[in-house]
Order: sequence, then structure tokens, then C-alpha cells
Amino acid sequence: MGLIGHPIKQTYSPFIHNVAFDLKKVDYLYLPFDVPAANLGNAVKGMVALGIKGFNVTIPHKVNIMQLMNNISDEAAGVGAVNTVVNDLGRLSGYNTDVYGILKTLDKHKSILAGKEMTVAGAGGSARAVIYTLIKYFKPAQINIINRTEQKAEALKKYFSDKMKFEAIKCYELLSSDLVDVFQRSELIVNATPIGMYPETDDAVISLEKAFNKEQIVFDLVYNPSKTRLLSIASKQGAKVINGTEMLVNQASKAFELWTGEIMPVPDIIRSLEMMIDT
Ligand code: NAP
Repeated sequence: MGLIGHPIKQTYSPFIHNVAFDLKKVDYLYLPFDVPAANLGNAVKGMVALGIKGFNVTIPHKVNIMQLMNNISDEAAGVGAVNTVVNDLGRLSGYNTDVYGILKTLDKHKSILAGKEMTVAGAGGSARAVIYTLIKYFKPAQINIINRTEQKAEALKKYFSDKMKFEAIKCYELLSSDLVDVFQRSELIVNATPIGMYPETDDAVISLEKAFNKEQIVFDLVYNPSKTRLLSIASKQGAKVINGTEMLVNQASKAFELWTGEIMPVPDIIRSLEMMIDT
């Protein structure tokens, strides 16, 4: 197994999968491969020629790889991106396991969240998977998209209006003066930007305490550090906070199952990963 992307910066996927292969005593290995955009087609042909059972896909290949697939899952088609490929004797199937990772992380709060107003910061690949999951499984009253580049938020709004007939999306620029109100009204706040990620750990999408309250769930996709500034501020105001580790391991567990047919020991892997990140 492996991961293709460019540039391949620090990634925890080899750690997650290789620890899980060891724990489950299955004879596989997971390696990162730095593949520039121009080499995507040849890299995929090479994976097939080498009989590699499956691989993950990250920036910048998540959209372009779709045209190389024989099958695409409903979720990958809905999000418009593939992050996991299964190679069945040369027949390639594309999945989006981020949707599973997000759903598994938020599902235990479904009774609180269903039908409520929600805010997502970011309009990139992971924001798209978050918004797809929220619309499909949580039927929000409204989704607010906050992004540095407002046109990208508007493009996502159009995407979900066209694809899922979901019209209740409002877009805001990251520095908008409306943000405190928008946050206060939201039952769920998701950070799907790298703001606050190591080494810029003093940054936060919003750092005003009054934006948060104890009715909220604040989910930061960032997993390094395990408690970002956003989560620290929100938890001081009584909000329930969730970091990105659970989603990261849950999305990996779905890929692991698709490749090996085995169930990843998710709690053990989350513990090992958090220990590794925080040391
Ligand atoms: P992406 O497609 O590159 O999108 C990045 C988004 O963040 C864009 O909306 C971008 O705004 C915004 N952004 C980037 N740098 C910014 C800055 N300095 N100030 C303000 N906005 C900024 O990336 P992605 O794949 O969605 O990933 C986003 C974050 O989620 C990353 O930190 C990644 O590590 C994390 N993530 C976590 C998981 C998990 O399993 N926990 C999974 C996927 C991603 P513009 O549109 O203005 O460029």
C-alpha cells in the first residue's frame, strides 16, 4: 500500500497503517511516494504493474485521479474527489473515506446536531468532504462557509446547490465583521483550514471568547498539535471540542478495511498516534 501526492510533507498515514498491519499481523507495508502532477498516469500504471493492492491519494491528485478509475463510489462522486484506490487485479475503484472519517467522528452527536445551523471554515478538499457529509447525514438548517478567498466559498455553494439541491449556504470572508455572530449562532463549528497547525500554533480562525458557548461542538481537522488554539479557546467557554486525530484514523480505518478485509483497532491507533504527535 502507499500514498501518492506532491509534495509529500509530513504524513502520519505510514505510521497509522504500518502499526495497524503489525497489530493485526497482516503482511503488508505502506510507503509514501512523491508524485508530481505530470507523473500521475505513469505512477498509477506502475502501481498496477507492481500488483500494489491499494493506495491513498492526496493533493494535487484527488480530482484528476478520478478519470483513471474503473469505478467510483457514490461518496467519491458526491464529494468530487477520490482519496483511496483499491486495485483488484488491474481494475481500479476510487473511494472517498474522508466522508466515513467525518461521519464516524460526528455521528455520536447526531441527535444534538441534526437540523441545526453549522459553520465550516475553509473551502478546499476537506471542507468539501465535511459539507457533503453534513448535508447528507445531518440535514442542517443552514451551513455558513467562511474562507479567505470568498469566490472559492461561492464555488462550493454552487457545487452543493447543483449536486445535492441544498440551497441553505451562506458565504463569508475570513475577516468579515459578521463572524462572531455567525459563530455564536452555530451549533457545530468545523475548522477545515490549516490555521493553527504546527508550527503556527498561536493562530486561530477566530480567537474571541465570545464566539463560543457551551451548546457548541467545535471540530478542528488539524491534528498537530492535538489541542489547537481554537480548541483551547472554545473549551474554556464550555464547548465540546474534537481534534482531527479521530477523523484521520477513522478515514484510514475504512481504507484499511477496503484493502485487507480486516478491521483496524482504531482506539489503539489513536492512542499511539497522539503519543507520537505530542512527544
Ligand atoms: P486545501 O484543499 O489546500 O484547502 C485549504 C483551505 O484552507 C482553503 O480554503 C484555504 O483558503 C484555507 N487556507 C489555507 N491557508 C490559509 C491561511 N494561511 N489563512 C487562511 N486560510 C487558509 O486543504 P485541505 O485538504 O482541505 O486541508 C485543510 C486542513 O485540514 C489541513 O490542515 C489538513 O491537514 C487538514 N485535514 C485533516 C484531515 C483529518 O483527517 N483530520 C483530513 C484532511 C485534511 P483559500 O481558498 O483562500 O486558499
